Amino acid sequence: MRPDILNPLFADITALQGVGPKIAAMISRVAGSRVVDLILTPPAGLIDRSARPKIAEAPFGQLATLTVAVDRHDAPPTGTRRPYRVICSDETGFLTLVFFHARADYLKRVLPEGETRIISGKVEEFKGGRQMTHPDHIADPEKPEELPLFEPVYPLTAGLSAAVMRKAMLGALARAPELPEWQDTAWLDQKGWADWQSALRQVHGPTSDADLSPMRVARQRLAYDELLANQLALALIRKARKKSAGRAINGDGKKLAAIKVALPFDLTDAQRKALKEVFDDMRAPERMVRLLQGDVGSGKTVVALMAMIAAVETGAQAVMMAPTEILVQQHLEWLTPLCNAVGVSIEILTGRDTGASRREKLARIANGDADIVLGTHALFQETVTFKDLALVVVDEQHRFGVHQRLALSEKGPRPDILVMTATPIPRTLALTAYGDMEVSAITEKPPGRKPVDTRTIPLNRLDDVVAAVKRAADKGDQVYWVCPLVEESELIELTAAEDRFEALKPAFGDSVGLVHGRMSGAEKDAVMERFHEGALSVLIATTVIEVGVNAPNATVMVIEHAERFGLAQLHQLRGRVGRGEKPASCLLLYKHPLGETAKARLQILRETEDGFRIAEEDMRLRGAGDLLGAAQSGFPRFRLADVAVHGDLLAAARDDAKLIIERDAGLETDRGKALRILLYLFSRDDAVKLLRAG
Ligand code: ADP
Ligand code: MG
Repeated sequence: MRPDILNPLFADITALQGVGPKIAAMISRVAGSRVVDLILTPPAGLIDRSARPKIAEAPFGQLATLTVAVDRHDAPPTGTRRPYRVICSDETGFLTLVFFHARADYLKRVLPEGETRIISGKVEEFKGGRQMTHPDHIADPEKPEELPLFEPVYPLTAGLSAAVMRKAMLGALARAPELPEWQDTAWLDQKGWADWQSALRQVHGPTSDADLSPMRVARQRLAYDELLANQLALALIRKARKKSAGRAINGDGKKLAAIKVALPFDLTDAQRKALKEVFDDMRAPERMVRLLQGDVGSGKTVVALMAMIAAVETGAQAVMMAPTEILVQQHLEWLTPLCNAVGVSIEILTGRDTGASRREKLARIANGDADIVLGTHALFQETVTFKDLALVVVDEQHRFGVHQRLALSEKGPRPDILVMTATPIPRTLALTAYGDMEVSAITEKPPGRKPVDTRTIPLNRLDDVVAAVKRAADKGDQVYWVCPLVEESELIELTAAEDRFEALKPAFGDSVGLVHGRMSGAEKDAVMERFHEGALSVLIATTVIEVGVNAPNATVMVIEHAERFGLAQLHQLRGRVGRGEKPASCLLLYKHPLGETAKARLQILRETEDGFRIAEEDMRLRGAGDLLGAAQSGFPRFRLADVAVHGDLLAAARDDAKLIIERDAGLETDRGKALRILLYLFSRDDAVKLLRAG
């Protein structure tokens, strides 16, 4: 149970003054729905009103805070469109305050004639004089605290004003309790870090742009808290798993030997190395939880197959889960002849299976007739039971959350788990996302792959691109055409794809297809299948193109507004072509002119097809937060830490977590108890639960 001391932070934001359901909905969009979500959202900018000139010295076009005498109200005659004016002055000159659609009674109250007021806003030039339209603040000089000279700026959304957000934030910060120190005091001294509450106030009270930097001392402290919570939670999960013994998988090696003969190729060195790591884990009595990273096309499937055969060889079962039906079908096509050749039975289960056929399949899985089972999410269902499940393989990990991974692994007596991802991520990031797993990587592609000819082309040469696509289609090649990513709106994204579809129809007729995120799974699958069969030569898609789908005939990848995509994403998309015999190309269409970062990104893509290098560069250019993209689940999203800049803090947090677990595994000491609070603060309740269970 979450400690009471944190309760004020875990209240709904509607508990804050000035936050009703409508405002709460908007704040939820940018920060979250609980008070703690607000306080963990650092300011993204700063409004500096500390300039306090006299009227005559106030620079045009800049923010200024001025102390003025309110001389005279000049109300517009009724029925005119003239604005309401209030004439003010100091000993150096005059300033006119301008209000449109003003309420006279309100202005009379806040700006009483003959009194002095502090006002703040942008100073403008009007007919040689100075004016200020709708001052941001008007304060009584007796109560100067009502006028903040430095205002942090938080992420906003349409309808949510900076002032409302700031007020909510102040309310949230006021609820931040004093908490027992969870960091090691010697470490705090060494770093010169303040306590949590002070650091929190400093981060939310910037007085210069430099204070917004993630390298500021106060921010580092909070970032470290977040990283430590992450690493400690992962360490606890890893420890709990280690304690739970797995099974030693030790077959006679006959089927494995046979499958090696049946394979149409030799394994690459990289595949062999990964496979050895997997087999070592499987043979050990502890449970395997291993991540296999490797670029699209690097040949992960065969590693999974061998692992599954090793499990089946001992008389047990193995399951492999993929995110889409098409992927399951492709795996089935490829695996079936190989499994047949060595006398291993294979079964698939997807959402399409219903009625009697489904019951039969479930029976074969339950009684052990099915050695290897392939499937989609349908495998999670409770009705699916195995006779003796020894290995779980999860393909394209980033599509599944950690919870789904766990749900599947509960279908056997502590089965080994092999997770595969085609999204290479930098080492530091792997620590945060997969710190609970061992990691293998396939860093080399099977021989004979031709490089994809990658070009950048400005969008105004679209006609040339269409002509090139037409030539490819006429030759019988297939083309992917990816439409721009529109972060703000899925709807705009859809419109862009539909427009492109309509524009290409005259040239391509029925051989152009469209697939987008608003379609149902079955609709998507149907279009993808037509492409896979070759019935479509051009496939227009928003970014939903299924990861891992194999269309050997696809030779051209067109990406519109490539500058809007992340590097890793572009790399993933490019990986969809060049899988067959024919030379392939990737056309990155961009809007001219390109910014520096965008230019650098596209350049890297032209230089290399090495996913690991691309991932490192991407992190360097974009920061870690953006790197993973909104679509990927299962990755922690840090609010205060940015592993692109806090890499050394992450390494320290990892060591720290390890030491904590060694010395105080149950988190029972005073520091341990404080660390429990830290875990709850960052919503790692799952990890704390393991403590009690253990
Ligand atoms: P991914 O890592 O993207 O899942 P796959 O396992 O689908 O890659 O493999 C991509 C293609 O490479 C497949 O057609 C597969 O048969 C082929 N392949 C895999 N390993 C080798 C190898 N060692 N030599 C030649 N071809 C290979
Ligand atoms: Mg694959």
